[in-house]
Amino acid sequence: MSVNDSVSNISQISPKLAKSLSSMGIHTIADLLNYFPSRYLDFSKFTLIENLHVGEVVTVRGTIKSIASRFSFATKKNLSEAIVSDETGSIKVTWFNQGYIAETLKKGDQVLLSGKVDNYKGLQLTNPIYEKVTTENIHTGRLVPVYKLPSTIFPKTFRKLIHELLPLSQGLIDIIPAPIKSKYHILDIAEATQELHFPTSIDKITQARERLAFEESFVQQLATELHRLELQALSAPSIATNISYIKSLIEKLPFTLTVGQKKALWQILQDLEYKHPMNRLLQGDVGSGKTIVALLAGLQTMQKGYQVALLVPTEVLAKQHFESICKQISNFPPKADQPRADKFQISKVGLLTSNFRQFGDGQNLKKKEILEHIANGKIHLLIGTHAILQESIKFKNLAFVIVDEQHRFGVGQRKTLLNLGLNSHGREKGAHNKPTLPSPHESAFVPHLLSMTATPIPRTAALALYGNLEISTIEELPKNRLPIKTWVVPEDKRRGAYEFIKKEIASGRQAFIITPLVEESEKLQAKSAKAEFERLQKEVFPHLKLGLVYGSMKGIEKDKVMLAFKNAEVDILVATSVIEIGIDIPNASVIVIEDADRFGLAQLHQLRGRVGRGAYQSYCLLFSNVTTSSERLDFFTHTNNGFRLAEYDMRTRGFGSLFGNAQTGFNFKYGQYLSLKVLEHAKSAAKEIIATSHNLDKYPLLNKLATPLSEELHME
Ligand code: ADP
Ligand code: MG
Repeated sequence: MSVNDSVSNISQISPKLAKSLSSMGIHTIADLLNYFPSRYLDFSKFTLIENLHVGEVVTVRGTIKSIASRFSFATKKNLSEAIVSDETGSIKVTWFNQGYIAETLKKGDQVLLSGKVDNYKGLQLTNPIYEKVTTENIHTGRLVPVYKLPSTIFPKTFRKLIHELLPLSQGLIDIIPAPIKSKYHILDIAEATQELHFPTSIDKITQARERLAFEESFVQQLATELHRLELQALSAPSIATNISYIKSLIEKLPFTLTVGQKKALWQILQDLEYKHPMNRLLQGDVGSGKTIVALLAGLQTMQKGYQVALLVPTEVLAKQHFESICKQISNFPPKADQPRADKFQISKVGLLTSNFRQFGDGQNLKKKEILEHIANGKIHLLIGTHAILQESIKFKNLAFVIVDEQHRFGVGQRKTLLNLGLNSHGREKGAHNKPTLPSPHESAFVPHLLSMTATPIPRTAALALYGNLEISTIEELPKNRLPIKTWVVPEDKRRGAYEFIKKEIASGRQAFIITPLVEESEKLQAKSAKAEFERLQKEVFPHLKLGLVYGSMKGIEKDKVMLAFKNAEVDILVATSVIEIGIDIPNASVIVIEDADRFGLAQLHQLRGRVGRGAYQSYCLLFSNVTTSSERLDFFTHTNNGFRLAEYDMRTRGFGSLFGNAQTGFNFKYGQYLSLKVLEHAKSAAKEIIATSHNLDKYPLLNKLATPLSEELHME
């Protein structure tokens, strides 16, 4: 039998079980072996019966002295009761509704029992996991794997199945080259697989998990290296900076740029001058003023006669950007030496989403018309959603693509970006939309690329993660901002907090309430959000208008509620933490976050950033079930800088905590096992491999994995 065989070929797997497995994405034996436990129960230490205490979770090894089943009329349940003893004493064991146990276990059997000690007319074990003592126990008496399983599969069945098939892990192919494994002390794939399922020690679990994280980031880093080589071979239009033009724009701004903004702008302008495509990430807190930096660089590009595209993840955000950018640039002169009266024509700005096609001067356009204006260059700046990425769209001469909230774009969409530029230059003859990178010999242009993110990643981590990116960081907020006041609110002041919200709303403001966290499933999360929404509406704010948004809601429904909130038709927006509220509501001045102790600080900071966007003093109220004062939350209440908070997270919760945040957009399956050390090793290993085998031709398997990733990397 081989690891590539279908699970349905295994005699122990019934068609019904095969179907359940298939619903979990398990089709082959390799899939099954790669389905790792989410956690372990430590039943490796035995407790003598005389040492048992109520409330402890223990493993007992003993002999069954008696066992019987009966129906209890009091509880309306089938009871199996046994007495088990070891050399130090006896204990009663009770199982509910597991009548078959009295068939399985017999008087005189040696058993292992793992479970919690209760007190019911004396000490007893209630519903323990049981297993007869054998040479190799798999359900008790060791570190026992716990898998996430659908209700159709019994944990014991799954564990037994994995255990029986585990020897086949010898047949798994190890993609990490042997010299790399020995240099960086990486476990073999077979050993790692065995240790992950049935660990021999806690230490081995760590090593095996490190291997998962290493392997994943190794492939990622290889892709990064490949991509870097490819970009070096591509050309982009060189856009010389016209300093007096840029100065004339800056003069027209209603504020002075911060030092961070100036530095970032300068770095971007320098990149635009190169003949190779820029690949830069601009990171800065919410409200740090990234848009104006990107826009100024965009205007420089337009001034040289090229087109610019600004890509945003949602329609609401696209409209918001479109309106504010039109307003902003209507003040700008088109050229440095132009008389001041001659303004930039906002009809050169276009909006394209699936529902809106518009010029900056308010004209609505038919689809055909806007496509024409993009193709003939009448539109200089196109703002839109992924609708911009449709195949039918051909730019005249796109030279600069700005992607806002880059983590929100899927990989497929990222890939298409490359071709946007390729449509425009050099490839007009015949080769449109070829979904591959041009070979270095082809004279093709790709656009410069600037991605923007409000997710702060500490510098050391960012350098290791984004090997192929240049990074600009805006650390400070503009001076005119009032820092948000943050408080941890004790439970007995909850009423007071609600009264405070009512007062804010009475004075014309709006509020967000982030509902308690339910991690088990999105369905439960939605359910609890609905319940909280109803409670708040009925019992707390009966006279106010509340809106509700949660993750699994339809996009249109979500947008509808958001818009109502933006238009102040809703006073309080109740939302789950998974929802990204990437929309500007300057009128909102309070955000309440439940279960605050369960979030990373970086994530809390993202949530807090939903308020404080207008001229009003804003407040962030944290509720937490942890009664003792928390140093973390305390730090949070005193720090408004996202980078400091992310560093704190990294220091105290580990590097992996950076990936627990949905906002980072990293597709690391094993991110929680990643450490800075492992990441740096993976990076060096990738560099070593690429140095010896330029395009990975010596490593066909790695090549197959890394190459498609590298093509998607154009905007990581
Ligand atoms: P973000 O970095 O979150 O995308 P924006 O670019 O949306 O932030 O900027 C937020 C607001 O701050 C905008 O209204 C913008 O006009 C304003 N702004 C940008 N730079 C400055 C500055 N240097 N001083 C004052 N206000 C600024
Ligand atoms: Mg922004």
